[in-house]
Amino acid sequence: MQSENVFVFDHPLIQHKISLLRDKNTGTKDFRTLVKELAMLMVYEVTKDFELVETEIETPIAVTKTKVLSDKKISLVPILRAGLGMVEGVTELLPNARVGHIGLYRHPETHEPVEYYCKLPADVAESTVIVLEPMFATGGSLTATIDILENRYGCKDIRLVCLIAAKPGVERVMGDHPNIKLYCAALDEKLNDHAYIVPGLGDAGDRIFGTK
Ligand code: URA
Repeated sequence: MQSENVFVFDHPLIQHKISLLRDKNTGTKDFRTLVKELAMLMVYEVTKDFELVETEIETPIAVTKTKVLSDKKISLVPILRAGLGMVEGVTELLPNARVGHIGLYRHPETHEPVEYYCKLPADVAESTVIVLEPMFATGGSLTATIDILENRYGCKDIRLVCLIAAKPGVERVMGDHPNIKLYCAALDEKLNDHAYIVPGLGDAGDRIFGTK
């Protein structure tokens, strides 16, 4: 997959933790911790181009010019429910980020995503929006989320952070949205007949919340 806006992390710590996450013998407690740690490691790279402004501070030794993050707002948008597992890891590094939520379910007959919840920060349009969704499978819920963010709220700077993405969905969604950036820890080949990523890690929501 060739796109200047798709970033697949090859950092050894990230790859190691993804392998542990994929293992079916990894239980809920460890799975949850790994999702949080991966989100934290990934956000380091996602924020790499954040704007800095010069300021002056006084150290115990001298007055000096230094740099701090600009006051551009950051909005995290976990897609319910699995995206919630990534929030804590990100807010540990970005404690001032606001958190909005988008809830979508898959219609049993049409298989289209249906919105059941959407509450976003008031100034989301002016902020950098970091969408949290552990599994980028068909891209149906990500497409619906992008549609809400761009067309209903006017967001301009949208970054998708996914632990595992599947090539077919990525090709379609990123082809339709060339301005959006995708950060993922693994890019898997395909989906099975139930739209699960292969090899993937199973159902991320069930594994985070211990519901299966
Ligand atoms: N959602 C998941 O949790 N896992 C997949 O493999 C695909 C979608």
